Amino acid sequence: MTTADPTEKRERIVVIGADAAGMSAAHQALRSAKAAGRDVDVIALEKTSDTSYSACGIPYLVSGTVGATDELSARTPEKHRAMGVDLRMNVTATKIDLNTRTVTYAHNAGGEEVVRFDKLVLATGAHPIIPQWAVTDGGELVGGVHPVKDLDHARHWLDLVSRRSRGGIAIRRRAAVVGGGYIGVEMAEAMVQRGFSTTLLTRSAVMSSLDSDMSERVREAVQAGGVDVITNTTIADIDIVDGHVRSVTASNGQVYPTDVVVLGLGVRPATELGVAAGLPIGEQGGYLPNERQEVAEGVWAAGDCCEVIERIRGKYVLAPLGTHANKQGRICGYDVLGGSHAFPGVLGTAITRFVSAGTHVEVARTGLGTREATEAGYDVESLVTVGGTASGYMPERSPIATKIIADRRTRRLLGVQIVGGAQSAKRIDTAAAVLWGEMSVDDLATMDLSYAPPFATVWEAIQLAARRLSDRM
Ligand SMILES: Cc1cc2nc3c(=O)[nH]c(=O)nc-3n(C[C@H](O)[C@H](O)[C@H](O)COP(=O)(O)OP(=O)(O)OC[C@H]3O[C@@H](n4cnc5c(N)ncnc54)[C@H](O)[C@@H]3O)c2cc1C
Repeated sequence: MTTADPTEKRERIVVIGADAAGMSAAHQALRSAKAAGRDVDVIALEKTSDTSYSACGIPYLVSGTVGATDELSARTPEKHRAMGVDLRMNVTATKIDLNTRTVTYAHNAGGEEVVRFDKLVLATGAHPIIPQWAVTDGGELVGGVHPVKDLDHARHWLDLVSRRSRGGIAIRRRAAVVGGGYIGVEMAEAMVQRGFSTTLLTRSAVMSSLDSDMSERVREAVQAGGVDVITNTTIADIDIVDGHVRSVTASNGQVYPTDVVVLGLGVRPATELGVAAGLPIGEQGGYLPNERQEVAEGVWAAGDCCEVIERIRGKYVLAPLGTHANKQGRICGYDVLGGSHAFPGVLGTAITRFVSAGTHVEVARTGLGTREATEAGYDVESLVTVGGTASGYMPERSPIATKIIADRRTRRLLGVQIVGGAQSAKRIDTAAAVLWGEMSVDDLATMDLSYAPPFATVWEAIQLAARRLSDRM
């Protein structure tokens, strides 16, 4: 005898992916339903055994700064369930049918189920980019070679950096980090802090989202911090002994002996489910949500699986960051229940740091770089100014190089980049606020910002930089 499911007739929201974007959507939907006095079921499907963790904290876990993997989890599955989300873990959504409004999912342990939805939220994130040379003929990752994307990867790296030997043979603790973006830089910091002799190899520059004069400052600092930085190179070959990496050969012909290879090559949106269901994707492979994050009638998407509108040029870009995933997820949670919240787009604001014995460099950017601004048709003027984070007589003062990029015709601020010492990079948020308001370089130079000797110079560093560019223009 079958018993009718009493929830079958209730409004049902299904969320695929239960991390930053997905769980923000799930909880906001529950809050909105409660506020509206509506009976709604929220089902979240997650293929791993982890939910709501900070991938952003993984490099600091691997370095030993964060003591345990659990500390990266914001909420346990039990807590989500206690708050009302029907969270189904270790299940992989395999098919979306937009006609029957159903999702099919497979239990990782075996077995399949189909669940009906009224509203669907896609929050499947992104896949780490795995180059061909990192994979064996059997499709497995070469031993010692691993990406950094989720908590299973974090556990792998934690185990590896803690291990002193493999098969009874002492590990020599040499690391190659491939990729010079923020994850590569943060993982290079982690490996150095764990005592690995570390080489960072990157296709172009370190932090190539900066202009080359600014990324060169980062390269110098990372190099000074004990990492051998090789720019403008790719991996041409890998030497494998007993299934384990022994060395990598770069396109410059140089062989780098190594025991481990960290893959920090970026991500690509995980959109295969939606594509198979007929949803459109953009040039960069992500879903193309409207400003309410809707991708089709009754279907929303949020987080790394989406492209986002970059506000200055008004075009879709990839900006796979946790800060956007959380905000977009929340908007989905409102709007699945008829709200009309909008995601306003991004500026490409980002921040990171590299710290090792004796070196502390912070890096931040917002808006357009010189090349992007020029390609977008702006009449670009830019200037780098080196100032300080505190008055010259204060012991905590550290240097801060600020690059200001503006449009000569309209004097509109277009972008700001910062490379400096401790307490420098978070100043980028002031610049982001000026960009957000579409203000001018003169506005940034003259607006009322705070000053006291431990915190700033009397002409705050980014104001000094803006003033100099304003004078020159
Ligand atoms: C090392 C590292 C450092 C980072 N540092 C920062 C930082 O400092 N600042 C910042 O803003 N961002 C940072 N990020 C980026 C940030 O972590 C991501 O942007 C964010 O996690 C994206 O959230 P999401 O929910 O869209 O995707 P994810 O976090 O990838 O979550 C997607 C979830 O969907 C699940 N899933 C996928 N497909 C299926 C399926 N078919 N069925 C069921 N479940 C599925 C996945 O298992 C996953 O749990 C960092 C990322 C990494 C890897």
